[in-house]
Amino acid sequence: MQDHRKPPKPQYYDNALPGDCRYCGKEIYKKNGKINLRANWHKECVEEYKLIYWPRETRKAVWKRDKGKCSGCGVKCGLKGWDMDHIKPLIEAKGDITYWKLDNCATLCWECHKKKTGSEAKARAEARALQKEQMRHTGTKPKKQRGRKPV
Ligand SMILES: [Zn+2]
Ligand SMILES: [Zn+2]
Repeated sequence: MQDHRKPPKPQYYDNALPGDCRYCGKEIYKKNGKINLRANWHKECVEEYKLIYWPRETRKAVWKRDKGKCSGCGVKCGLKGWDMDHIKPLIEAKGDITYWKLDNCATLCWECHKKKTGSEAKARAEARALQKEQMRHTGTKPKKQRGRKPV
């Protein structure tokens, strides 16, 4: 199973032709207007790639943007004394790369992060319970059991 915490690979990563960018798939041009066949990355695409795929780079950029301030309670966090929070939780991403972009990342002190993960887990448990309850009322069985022969 794919780790839901890992961003999906860029679509072109493994099949970019020489001169095409492994990140955005577009051609890379030299200053003279010709395609640069020895290149596989646009400069700005490398930067964007790093911010998404290298957690250390993401952390650095998020901390810098937030100036080390917890987005929950506003307390100042040291360079290491905080957690990087994904505002929309990664478990819901289902391969949507925007979940890994800086817009969805925030600085949270440990205390606030604990609270947020706790309430998210609670919300998920409640949603599951509700689903179960609805199934009980409508008489629909969970998918897994469909097509099973009676014993
Ligand atoms: Zn590119
Ligand atoms: Zn906080």
